[in-house]
This record gives sequence, C-alpha cells and structure tokens, in this order.
Amino acid sequence: MEALKSWRSKQSGVTDVPQKIMKYDLVIVGGGIAGCAASIAAAEQGLKVALVHDRPVLGGNASGEIRVHTLGIYGKFERILKMLDTEHYPNGSAEALKEDQKRMTNIAKYKNIDAFLNFRAYHATTEKGKISSVDARHTSTGEMLRFEAPLFVDCTGDGWIGYWAGADYNYGREASSKYNEAWDAQGLLWSPETPDNFVMGSSVLWGSENAGKPVVFPEVPWAMDVAGTYAEKNGEWQWEFSQNDLSQIEDAETIRDHMFRAIYGSFCNYKHPSTQRKNSDQGVYGTFDNTIQQQKADSLQLKWVSYLLGKRESRRLVGDYLDQRQLDKYFSAYQKFEIPGYQELLKKNNLKKTNKRLE
Ligand SMILES: Cc1cc2nc3c(=O)[nH]c(=O)nc-3n(C[C@H](O)[C@H](O)[C@H](O)COP(=O)(O)OP(=O)(O)OC[C@H]3O[C@@H](n4cnc5c(N)ncnc54)[C@H](O)[C@@H]3O)c2cc1C
Repeated sequence: MEALKSWRSKQSGVTDVPQKIMKYDLVIVGGGIAGCAASIAAAEQGLKVALVHDRPVLGGNASGEIRVHTLGIYGKFERILKMLDTEHYPNGSAEALKEDQKRMTNIAKYKNIDAFLNFRAYHATTEKGKISSVDARHTSTGEMLRFEAPLFVDCTGDGWIGYWAGADYNYGREASSKYNEAWDAQGLLWSPETPDNFVMGSSVLWGSENAGKPVVFPEVPWAMDVAGTYAEKNGEWQWEFSQNDLSQIEDAETIRDHMFRAIYGSFCNYKHPSTQRKNSDQGVYGTFDNTIQQQKADSLQLKWVSYLLGKRESRRLVGDYLDQRQLDKYFSAYQKFEIPGYQELLKKNNLKKTNKRLE
C-alpha cells in the first residue's frame, strides 16, 4: 500500500501534505449519528466545530445511502437526536432519503459548524501524545486540508483517528480473563478462553418491487457460489456477513462484494423458480413491501441495492478509562432499574421486555 502511494505521488507530482490549514476549537471526523450529535452538542456550548465526513450526505448507517433506521432510547439526548435520526420506516425503505434532508437542514442551522462533506481523513499527527492535526482529502477534487484543533472526536466507526494516532485498540473478542468479564450463563459464546476475530457482520440492504408487467432478470453465474439455492426478494437487517479470517476494515470491499453475490444470486433464484431452487419465503419484517408477498416473481424487479456496506462491529479504541462490564451484575441491574424512555419505547413498538438487542 505504501509503495503504491509513493508511486502514485511520484507519477502525479501530488504529495500527501496539505497546503491549507484550517483551525477549529473541535474537529469531529465521521458524520454518522454519533458525529452529527457530537457536533451539535459542541456547537451549543459555543465551540467552532469542523465536521469532516467522507460522504455527500450525513447519517452514516442511517443515511439514505445505507438506510438502517434508528430505533433506540433517546434518554437525555432526545432533543438533539430527534434532529438527526431516521424513523423506523423500516430498514431499506426509500423514506430514509427524506431524513438526509432533515439532518442537513438541522446541521446547517448551526453557524459555528462547518461541514466538510466528501472529505476523507487519511492521517493524524500527534505531539507529546496528543493529536494536533488531522489531514483529509476531497474524494473527487483531491483537495487536501489540514485540520488543527486542541480536541478531536473520532466518530469514523472504524476508530481511524485513534489508530493513526497510535492508540491501543481491540478487535473481535478478548479472552474473558483480560477484563475479568466471564459470564457463566452464556458460556464460551460471550466468554471465550482465547481471543479471536469474532465480530458481528456487515450488511447490504436491498429490496424489490412489482413492475406491473413481466421483467426479465438474467442468470448470474458469478453469484451462485454464494447464493446456492436460496431464493429471496427482499433483504433485511439479518443479511449480514462476517468471517473470522476477514477484517471488517481491511476486507470491507470483499465483504460488500460477497453480499452482492448473495443478493443478486438469491433474487435470480426467486425470479427463476425450479425444482432445484428452494423458495425460502422467510417473511418480510415490518411493513416494507408487504404487498410484494402477493405478487408473482415474473413481475418483480430490483428496486434498490445499497452500494455501501452498513457496518456493525469494528476496531474498539482503548481509552484512558475502560468501562468493564461484570455482566451478571450488569444485567441484574438492567432488570431492576428503569432506563429513561425504555417503557415508552416498548409501548410505542409493541415489544415485550427482553434482554435481547432491539433491531
Ligand atoms: C443492518 C444493520 C442493523 C443494525 N441494527 C442495530 C440495532 O438494532 N441496534 C444498534 O444499537 N445498532 C445497530 N446497528 C449498528 C448501528 O447502525 C451503528 O452502531 C451506528 O450506525 C453507529 O453510528 P456511528 O455514527 O458511530 O457510525 P456510522 O453510522 O458508521 O458513521 C460513521 C461515518 O464516518 C464516515 N467515515 C469513516 N471513516 C472516515 C474517514 N476516514 N474520514 C471521514 N469520514 C469517515 C463513514 O462514511 C460513516 O458514514 C445496525 C447496523 C446495521 C448495518
């Protein structure tokens, strides 16, 4: 990678050193929900904030580009989060697009937030163990900017800024002995004896629609080694992929392409049913495209396939303070005490109280 970078720089005459320096009170890298919320919170305290984000729209996983809805407990942050969240439409719905506009409009109301969209951070400089600047490059013009500030917030989801600054980090599962977090009730799943790369996978959301007339879908032999005989017409949150020998960071494109093969191959199976091809008809979550269940495969056409990976678990930076969960105690406390907003959330979504994650 380094060799390729220096070859490109030699051929193009463009170095990695930005000429323009931008000074702020706070620089936030990554414009997902975390980065947007941090920007507003800081701006309301009077700080001059740079929000550096590598996409044309804000929202990260919750953006119209990826379309994961945000369903969670607002707690004390309700006012800020409501300016930014994506309703439960649910996942993959085109309605998520209108929330992009809401986020952009609300962030633009803060005159002391400068949003640098399409700028991808690629380097952090440290002085005496503190980050002093972050460099970012425009993804289409190539313009390079150096951001200087006394404080930086890493909201990249992959912990890039901390990583470039040399921070310690974890990836996958630590041995349960590392932080004394053994949880007997869940056995080795939660408390492995040795560390490994086991993480939750990434998703590519997608869906189809009734075109009202027959639509041809080609054979996709390049996808069938992944799809096998599985047939489907919509994807949801449970379409995720991880493998211990693949990194959710370095191998993100391989994982995304694997998901593409699962999607196009399964849809092809759905469009070309035969005795060999089993129709899973696994049911559709929420209300998204329920009507499609009634429609015939021959009039179905792909409506939307995200081209970006929706990421889940990744690099976890180790800070000066570590929140260790003595899990048995944590979950009994969780049962006993009420988290603000928890009851309302259950009621609103007609859910029963459970320790499971709310997707
Ligand atoms: C299908 C699916 C279902 C999920 N369900 C749940 C759930 O039920 N409950 C739950 O708690 N979580 C769930 N998650 C996870 C949840 O979506 C994420 O935890 C959440 O999006 C994290 O928000 P974030 O702002 O930290 O990161 P992100 O949403 O990942 O945003 C980070 C942004 O930073 C940008 N970025 C990255 N690197 C750089 C860089 N170098 N320079 C500039 N910008 C950069 C990225 O483009 C990205 O847009 C789910 C995820 C998926 C994919």
